[in-house]
Amino acid sequence: SLQCGIVGLPNVGKSTLFNAISSGKAEAANYPFCTIDPNVGVVTVPDERLDTLEALVKPQKVVPTIIEFVDIAGLVKGASQGQGLGNKFLANIREVDAIVHVVRCFEDDNIVHVEGRVNPIFDKEIIDIELQLKDLESIDRKLQRTEKAARASGDAKAKAELDTLLKYKKALESGLNARAVEVTPEERQAAIGDLQLLTVKPVIYVANVDEKSLPDGNQYSDQLKEMAQKEGAEVVVVCAAIEAQIAEMEDPDERQLFLDEYGLQESGLDRLIKASYRLLNLITYFTAGVKEVRAWTIQRGWKAPQAAGVIHSDFEKGFIRAEVIKLPDYVQYKSEAAIKDAGKMGVEGKEYVVADGDIMHFRFNV
Ligand code: GDP
Repeated sequence: SLQCGIVGLPNVGKSTLFNAISSGKAEAANYPFCTIDPNVGVVTVPDERLDTLEALVKPQKVVPTIIEFVDIAGLVKGASQGQGLGNKFLANIREVDAIVHVVRCFEDDNIVHVEGRVNPIFDKEIIDIELQLKDLESIDRKLQRTEKAARASGDAKAKAELDTLLKYKKALESGLNARAVEVTPEERQAAIGDLQLLTVKPVIYVANVDEKSLPDGNQYSDQLKEMAQKEGAEVVVVCAAIEAQIAEMEDPDERQLFLDEYGLQESGLDRLIKASYRLLNLITYFTAGVKEVRAWTIQRGWKAPQAAGVIHSDFEKGFIRAEVIKLPDYVQYKSEAAIKDAGKMGVEGKEYVVADGDIMHFRFNV
């Protein structure tokens, strides 16, 4: 499943946020593939459409889709040089799909700020620089190999690759992240597709504010937002300490009252999950039967066979066709039979691009 790595300087609230994530009620039993790793927290993706389907289908169980958050503590200034447990943590970042970068936007004289003062922009840059230095190492190694190849063969492909690599080098050396480099997807794939760069991964910033700055944030989170806007990145304002309390609440009504008190419509965690989903261009389709109503995560743009492959590889290999119901039709007609009678069940082939919210039934050969 999808993994987001939580990074940030020490004492910014990462553990507090991670603990809130881990104390959530994702039922690990439903997800046998989940590892029991103390540094990985599993959360279910909130989706009101599942509730709608549950009410209509009355299944034995409902299985939401999940995201995993990985606690990558220990990044400090000098990590790229092996400070702290630098290299180990940087290696962990290579494994994740996206980065959640927590930045301290709260003042508290009792909690030491590792750099002496609250300054979200500086903090963010310290982490960025460590990741950039690591990426520079990767780029330099690749450059050496590619230069040799270009010299030996003189071929245009190697030359083009070299040019792209130099673009990355220049950007990283000037303090930019690899994701900011303007190249075509093909150029990127050819030059750095094999490198698993750290700063090429998509990022979300979490502005950790104190509870009195909820719901809209403060001067610090505003600074972060301004910076993130230039990068085209999203900022999610949370108060990690409050999230920890919300995560403990089992009763939805109690939870809602608590959120209302802080002027919040939904928890920071839910906003973070949804932002991660958007960031990675993910959508959800559903399967709906009396045994189970279930949400499945796919990439936007995937065709029916590929989407079916998320359930089982046999579904993809033996794909014949898909029957597709749109949720509003389910709500209107209430049963599959009635939907069919009304001619609202789509029968789609291999080229069908699955849409967000589709209810799918796959037909396949075994
Ligand atoms: P980490 O080193 O980034 O994992 O940071 P921690 O989660 O351990 O938090 C460091 C300290 O800041 C702890 O004492 C937390 O209780 C405190 N802290 C975390 N979030 C907040 C917050 O939103 N407001 C305040 N005042 N303190 C917080």
